[in-house]
Amino acid sequence: MNSRRTFIKTTGVLSLIPWLTKRVKAKSNQIYEAPIVVSTWNFGIEANEAAWDVLSEGGSALDAVENGVRIIESDPEETSVGIGGLPDRDGHVTLDACIMDDKGNAGSVSYLQHIENPISVARKVMEETPHVMLSGQGALQFALEQGFRKTNLLTDKARKAWEAWTLTSEYKPIINIENHDTIGMLAMDQSRKLSGACTTSGLAFKMHGRVGDSPIIGAGLFVDNEVGAATATGMGELMMKTLGAFLVVEFMRQGKSAQAACEAAIQRIVETQDYEDMQVGYLALDKQGNVGAYAIRPGFSYALYQNGENVLLQADSYIKGK
Ligand code: ASP
Repeated sequence: MNSRRTFIKTTGVLSLIPWLTKRVKAKSNQIYEAPIVVSTWNFGIEANEAAWDVLSEGGSALDAVENGVRIIESDPEETSVGIGGLPDRDGHVTLDACIMDDKGNAGSVSYLQHIENPISVARKVMEETPHVMLSGQGALQFALEQGFRKTNLLTDKARKAWEAWTLTSEYKPIINIENHDTIGMLAMDQSRKLSGACTTSGLAFKMHGRVGDSPIIGAGLFVDNEVGAATATGMGELMMKTLGAFLVVEFMRQGKSAQAACEAAIQRIVETQDYEDMQVGYLALDKQGNVGAYAIRPGFSYALYQNGENVLLQADSYIKGK
């Protein structure tokens, strides 16, 4: 579409572009035009495009977030989500995902193997079962019953990376590069309804059976249509121990702006957890359309599609500098 423009701005955006600075720091009573979609990391640009295709046609935020993150899940070159995701330390690709709609419904899958689009299985859990989360073999069985196909998720690229890792088998979280990343996406549709999705292959070379924050409602994602929505990326254990996404939304409920809420939730980690060498990034979207983003360290990028522009931004962080 000619009317759509994509801008990639990777440095100093908040300080260099006054209108962006204004938006990020806006008071929560300022109302922005919908639709809006925001998502984590550089691949958020591509995911936002797919979400915008739905939103611009008047589609629901729920359809938009599912459509948006599926693009990244299905990209074999992305080594942190869906097919192509880096395996656990025993060589198995295990996926975590969750989704929430504007009515407070939630669906989730954890430790799911062999299925390319866990977000769509999570949505089926939400819509077709009386439960919120299915895990492991049961999640796979449910997916197959729902018509999902079994796929080999371990690409040659991921297998080679794992084989190289087995030479030392040294597990150390690496900040902001392919060792871990998640696509978390929040959207507001034309009727100002909110939904969110979060999907990942989790930490690369994690212990077999490890599940992170991404499928945990309230840790990796939370949506409250009255208040706003939040999603998380980074070292999942830190968000799980502080129920990060829920905390961000609760801070907004207490009156903090989307930005201040993300900062306060990072502050909670910094004050209560050992976060050495670890990264966490939060994204928030409030009911008025204000976006917040904040991380422990520099390097957390996110993509914001609003007013027909899809922009890559750098979040501010608790630790400054490079
Ligand atoms: N939060 C994800 C996890 O801990 C990984 C990430 O976002 O980098 O599984």
